[in-house]
Amino acid sequence: MKVEYSYLKDQFASPEPILDAMREQLTRCEFTFGKEMVEFENHFAKYTGAKYALGVGSGTDALKLSLKAVGVGRGDEVVTVTQTFIATVGAIAELGAIPVFVDSNDDFSMNVDQVEAAITPGTRAILPVHYSGNPVDMKKLMKIAGKHNLPVVEDACCAISAAINGKHVGNFGQAGGFSLHPLKNLNVWGDGGVVITNSKAVYDKLILLRNHGLATRDDAEIFGYNSRLDTVQAIVGNYLIEQVEDITNKRIANANYYDRELSASVLKEYVRVPERKKGFRHVYHMYMFYAKRRDGLLKHLCDAGIEAKVHYPKAVHMQNCCKNYGLKYKPGDFPVAENQCKNIITLPVHQHLRQEQLDYVIAKVKEFYIVK
Ligand SMILES: *Cc1c(COP(=O)(O)O)cnc(C)c1O
Repeated sequence: MKVEYSYLKDQFASPEPILDAMREQLTRCEFTFGKEMVEFENHFAKYTGAKYALGVGSGTDALKLSLKAVGVGRGDEVVTVTQTFIATVGAIAELGAIPVFVDSNDDFSMNVDQVEAAITPGTRAILPVHYSGNPVDMKKLMKIAGKHNLPVVEDACCAISAAINGKHVGNFGQAGGFSLHPLKNLNVWGDGGVVITNSKAVYDKLILLRNHGLATRDDAEIFGYNSRLDTVQAIVGNYLIEQVEDITNKRIANANYYDRELSASVLKEYVRVPERKKGFRHVYHMYMFYAKRRDGLLKHLCDAGIEAKVHYPKAVHMQNCCKNYGLKYKPGDFPVAENQCKNIITLPVHQHLRQEQLDYVIAKVKEFYIVK
């Protein structure tokens, strides 16, 4: 049996509604700033409960523009995590700012208790990551940020629909960035991103930043970027945002099933599911757990046609780009994240999986550890 990681062919197996909307757009040819982009922004704001949503070119740009909008510039320090996708830190580096890392918790979210010690007079912002779709403890983090008068930009790139006690992530800080990359839970046919904010001042700044700093066709207030959400991508986004609640619930159900099966007593000494925090809606952009002899299990699953993966084998502070950027981190600096790199594995968890595929995955995990 094959259990693929990607579900895109299933997701877009009946593309007629999207193609019809694209054909209709061709009668107008508003390829940038089409009405579909505004429609999508309104949908997105409504869905996340934010006052404002802004389409941008990618999730990375959503973070970069947000950081810039809250005042981060060259040489400023931004506190973030080392256990994340490289783009989180890339967004900081693109602004010439300095990433300052903290470690992760056992459940892969930012260890908020380390943030205060990482703050210096040079700190200009905090960038928590709702990594794998699991919300950071934002209540605790916002308290620290408030005490130090620091803005918070949330990396919610892989966390659409994630929430804490019903409040969607991206609404806790001054801004939240989301990615519409094909691999994310709400995706389009290429690159795209969204920023949400509840601050009119941040919104106004972002409106300028995403479009060359232009306040009108002929007046540029600041130097900005070329980072818009294409109309064709917004059309795909409008089609999928109607489904994102169902997509999310299916992923959560699949994850709950894995949680239950992997917690079975026969597997106890071999695998471990991290704690699930009460009141936190984890949306399982990635389903990750701890596995003994991880590399062996990875090979066993892949040989059986199951596309398991590792996110990621190398934490960001161990990447050459950090050394080449002048950062002085070394092995052992973030033991929790480094241990995760060696011991975690990711299973396919997407909404198109069938029960027999979930069963097959579990059977193959058991087969690896339990010698009959
Ligand atoms: C995907 C992702 C990004 C980058 O988003 P892009 O749209 O690919 O630029 C940033 N941070 C995290 C945590 C992500 O998962």
